[in-house]
Amino acid sequence: MALQTLIGKRIPVLDQGWVELQDLMGDDLAIVNAARVSFLGESRGEERDKRLLFYLMEHRHTSPFEQVEFKFRVRAPLVTWWQWVRHRTWSFNAQSGRYVPFDEDAFYIPAVWRKQSPSNKQASLGELTPEEGKPFTEALLQHYAQSYALYRRALEAGIAREQARLFLPGFAVYYTWVAKVDAHNLMHFLQLRMAEDAQFEIRVYAQAIYEHFFKPALPWTAEAFEQFVLKAGTR
Ligand SMILES: Cc1cc2nc3c(=O)[nH]c(=O)nc-3n(C[C@H](O)[C@H](O)[C@H](O)COP(=O)(O)OP(=O)(O)OC[C@H]3O[C@@H](n4cnc5c(N)ncnc54)[C@H](O)[C@@H]3O)c2cc1C
Repeated sequence: MALQTLIGKRIPVLDQGWVELQDLMGDDLAIVNAARVSFLGESRGEERDKRLLFYLMEHRHTSPFEQVEFKFRVRAPLVTWWQWVRHRTWSFNAQSGRYVPFDEDAFYIPAVWRKQSPSNKQASLGELTPEEGKPFTEALLQHYAQSYALYRRALEAGIAREQARLFLPGFAVYYTWVAKVDAHNLMHFLQLRMAEDAQFEIRVYAQAIYEHFFKPALPWTAEAFEQFVLKAGTR
């Protein structure tokens, strides 16, 4: 797929979030050519190039995959960022609540309420019915409205933005970040965050990146990643 069609493409995620590809450096062939630099070689035709890429993935010869870089702009609630920034191999720049006041509607509202898993302390299992969930959604909206009113009141009283934001519903606030990573470390992120045990609010971002950007940008790499990493279940 032509790179031009991917750059600038924005995929909606959650109720108000999105992922946009800002920039992309490299393709499957860049990975193959990086591996071949060992003996100063270049492409040897599609079949042999693809075979080499699969060999690299299978034998965890990882550094050629670092030659491809993805840069995203992402809008996600803090509950998502809180987990995303644990991935130290990414480079981030974030919107600052010290410079830019927050919008009234920039708070995450879940489409469904999940139940606590009885066996896994970190996980959810099953959902509340819409009738069971409705009062909680209403309470959440009320909570957001009250929080935002207090935030505005603090700003109007002259309190600094950096402190007024203490009134905001922290985990629910949407932030926009720029996030850059190479293909090797992106696969590590995708493997962990597309897994069933990853929290839904980050899993949907990982899935959006994989389906809409990673697979079209690196089709051979994605095929090999599925075969040797995702399906093999290696971590
Ligand atoms: C389902 C799930 C549940 C989690 N629960 C918790 C939790 O309860 N509490 C919690 O604190 N975290 C939790 N985490 C976060 C987890 O511990 C990792 O911090 C996060 O997944 C990032 O993984 P990473 O360190 O492998 O990735 P990256 O930071 O991107 O690093 C990639 C790889 O680089 C290497 N590396 C990077 N930095 C260093 C370093 N300084 N020293 C040595 N090697 C390095 C490691 O091999 C690492 O695997 C959870 C993650 C998942 C997926």
